[in-house]
Amino acid sequence: MSAQSATVIATYSRRMGLRLANGDEVNARIKGKRIKPVCGDEVSAEPIENEADWLITSINERRNELTRPNMRGQVEVLAANVDTLVVVASVAPLPDWYIVDRYLCAAELMGVDSIVVFNKTDLLAGHDIEIPELQEYRDIGIPVFECSAEKGKGIRKIRKALANQRTIVVGQSGVGKSSIINKLIEDSRQRVADISSKSGEGRHTTVNSVMIPLRSGGAVIDSPGVRDYAPALTSSNDAAIGFREIAEAAHSCRFANCRHLREPGCAVKDGVDAETISYRRYESFKRVVNLTEKLADGKYSGRA
Ligand code: GDP
Ligand code: ZN
Repeated sequence: MSAQSATVIATYSRRMGLRLANGDEVNARIKGKRIKPVCGDEVSAEPIENEADWLITSINERRNELTRPNMRGQVEVLAANVDTLVVVASVAPLPDWYIVDRYLCAAELMGVDSIVVFNKTDLLAGHDIEIPELQEYRDIGIPVFECSAEKGKGIRKIRKALANQRTIVVGQSGVGKSSIINKLIEDSRQRVADISSKSGEGRHTTVNSVMIPLRSGGAVIDSPGVRDYAPALTSSNDAAIGFREIAEAAHSCRFANCRHLREPGCAVKDGVDAETISYRRYESFKRVVNLTEKLADGKYSGRA
């Protein structure tokens, strides 16, 4: 048997779970120290003589990467080849919409779709409360779903929206990401146990990350790192690309290098004045610009 292509479906410390082209699931080691496959990667792998493990020899070019700066200031890749970022906010803890905007900004920069899920609607106790921020997202074309993971309400629609997508779920701690993931994968839970036990590294081996298939096709990539992920933003130019309504208005600014702050003839400022661009989203945009400038000056090194 010779090399074939495979998908990384689980990562342990230096071992991986692979799905081969024929659907078989095997464990693999990595050839050399230079390559670092992550969940979602397409790789080349070959069988090892007289061993059950396969050997990963190379990683195919990635469509996109979910990255974040690690403690040493290096960029760490958490997952690759993702289709959709699900940003979760909830009734309690109260939403920090700036955090939601930062995740959405990261999704735009990665070139992946995003959806917003507003969880714990059961806590609204039947009150039909309009949340203006959710309408702002709908207005710029980002799908919004309201649900109660606890009551199982609204989950079916989310599952439908995520069919055939490779998804990651992010958001503030406590908003219900784990609960939503559990609802989405329901009948796949056994498979997660399978993947873990098949690794042959014992029941208590920590799985760094795992890609859990959905019955409707597609999969959810899950790990503590992915769930707690805070996006790395590189330049203040990126900020404008990451806010789609600002990026669109920017085409009409008088100056091509307009920063949308105090420049004359700024179509973004005009849009905010005319209320076609949300003032709150514009404030988020300015905060992201500020943050990236601090990053560039080396005055800031971590999260938030
Ligand atoms: P995570 O930190 O985002 O992964 O959040 P968890 O899934 O761990 O949930 C945090 C807490 O919120 C837990 O106590 C859950 O039981 C609770 N929770 C999750 N979803 C809901 C919901 O729809 N309604 C209510 N009332 N509580 C929920
Ligand atoms: Zn402008």
